[in-house]
Formats: sequence, C-alpha cells, structure tokens
Amino acid sequence: MPGFVEKPEPVPVPGLVHLHTGKVRDLYRNEAGDLVMVASDRVSAYDWVLGTEIPDKGRILTKLSLWWFDQLADLVPNHLISTTPPPGAPAAWEGRTMVCRSLRMIPVEAVARGYLTGSGLEEYQRDRTVCGLALPAGLSDGSELPGPIFTPATKAAVGDHDENVSYEEVARQVGADVAAKLRQTTIALYNRARTIARDRGLILADTKFEFGQADGAGPDDPLVLADEVLTPDSSRFWRKDEWEPGRRQKPYDKQYIRDWLTSPEAAWDRTGDTPPPALPQEVVDATRARYTEAYRLLTGQSWD
Ligand code: ATP
Ligand code: MG
Repeated sequence: MPGFVEKPEPVPVPGLVHLHTGKVRDLYRNEAGDLVMVASDRVSAYDWVLGTEIPDKGRILTKLSLWWFDQLADLVPNHLISTTPPPGAPAAWEGRTMVCRSLRMIPVEAVARGYLTGSGLEEYQRDRTVCGLALPAGLSDGSELPGPIFTPATKAAVGDHDENVSYEEVARQVGADVAAKLRQTTIALYNRARTIARDRGLILADTKFEFGQADGAGPDDPLVLADEVLTPDSSRFWRKDEWEPGRRQKPYDKQYIRDWLTSPEAAWDRTGDTPPPALPQEVVDATRARYTEAYRLLTGQSWD
C-alpha cells in the first residue's frame, strides 16, 4: 500500500460524490455522472506520498496533460469535457480540474517503451525479453530499443506494483480486437509524443496510457484516451544531454527528492515503516523548477 504521510480528506462540494483518493489525484462524480479529476500538489517517492507538497505541481501537470491531449487529438479521441471546476468548488481547484466523460475502463496499463529501464530492464536481464518480447543481446540500462514496443501491465490490487504481462495475456483478458487496438493506438501515440519531446531536448523513455470505451461503443468505435497523459507522473522523461546508456538515468522530476531522501541528512530508512521526513525548501524549489522546465521545454511557453 502506498503510504500517505498524511492522508488528505476529500473536499465536500455540493453535488459531488467523492470516489477515490489516488496518490496524486482526487476523483469525484458530478450529478451528470461525469468524472471530476482534481490534480493535487502531492508527490510520491519510494512508495510514499510525501507530507511535503510541490507548489503548483497540480496545475503544471494538468496544463501539460491538456496540451498533450491537443497534440494527440487527431490520433485518438479523449475523455476531456471541460476544465471548469464545478460550482461551489474551492477557488484552489482552478487550473487543476478536468471534467471527463466517465468511461468503461479497459483494465490494462497501456505502456509503450522506446528505451530499456525499470521493470523492462529487470525482465531483460533475466530472460532477454520484455513482456515476453525477445530483444537483441547487449542492451543495458537506458539503451534505446530497436523500435518502440507495447509492454502492457495489469493494474495491481491496491498496494502491489503493476505486473507486466504478455500481449497474449492481454488478448485473453480483453479480446483480440481490443488488444490489437490497444497496441496499435499506444504505439502511435508514443511515436508522436516521442518525436515532439525529442525535438525539444527530452527523451520520452516510456509512458503509460489508459483507455476506456463509452457506454454502447461497438467494436468499430475507437478507444477513448483517458486519465492523464505524458506528464512526469505517467512517463519517464530524460534530458537528452544527460542520457548515457549503461547506467541508471537520472529521473527527470524526482531526482532531487530521491537524492535527498537517501542522503545522510534525511536520516531515513526507506526499507522500514517510518514515514519519510519533510523535504527541505531547496529540494522543493529544485523539484518545482523541474516541473516548470518540463512544461517550458515541451510546450514552448514559460510557466512563471
Ligand atoms: P495512482 O496514483 O498509482 O495512479 P490510482 O490509479 O489508484 O493510483 P488515480 O490515478 O488518481 O489513482 O485514479 C484515477 C482513476 O480513474 C484510475 O483508476 C483510472 O483508471 C480512472 N480513470 C481515468 N479516466 C477515467 C475515465 N474517463 N472514466 C473512468 N475512469 C477513469
Ligand atoms: Mg492512476
């Protein structure tokens, strides 16, 4: 279970039913039956949602996700209805609210990878495969793959990490037609996003999409892109000028947090049950600067 240093209380808003408090986002349903997703400033590291927030993170990542939805709109429909907070919502929801069509979600984390790292690397080092796909020998942490691959995972029951599964397993679970669409759409979106990121100095190593279907959708209807997209919370970005295969790459956004939490100054045992300590101001500032930098590099617009 991802521990919350401090579990936030849902905000009571007339007409909204609270559904879920995620690591980073809070989910409500409005009276029309739509989903109201509110991105917070929370940040997680080492399976903990920290007690320290990163100012503006929710608004930056919401705006980034909206920008990406636009970049991808010709490839796939998405679930966004509006960014207007519901009447009666706190002013602080401005800029970090997405009202979305409530979909029947396909229970697969649609991951695309163009580079080898993380759980993909672990499987590769064991079997020279990722999600059962054979890969060439000689790749190391951070290597670019010969081409992007679809490496689905199934959502773990709360607490566990998602489990990588083979394409065949996905096809068994959701049917061959939906599986084929998932793979095709995921790779097309990844390719588009990777090219955009690369032109702006960032490597999109891998990313996770979630898709759903509208009620009554038939087999010929396209999947609908849901959740958030292509933010540092759902994707691994690396700076192109820092990329060096053969070692673990620096995580783009959480580098300062991880470095500090594992430093003697934090004096924290991440293998134990003790919650992590509060982050010092300079770590908060440096992390916030990473989010604004990602926003600026990708969208070409400055944040502050
Ligand atoms: P984590 O913080 O690890 O992502 P989580 O997935 O439990 O944990 P959230 O991501 O905040 O927490 O939850 C968002 C939930 O909303 C997910 O279960 C996601 O699949 C679901 N979701 C996203 N978009 C839609 C949609 N349009 N219709 C229905 N459900 C959706
Ligand atoms: Mg999620």
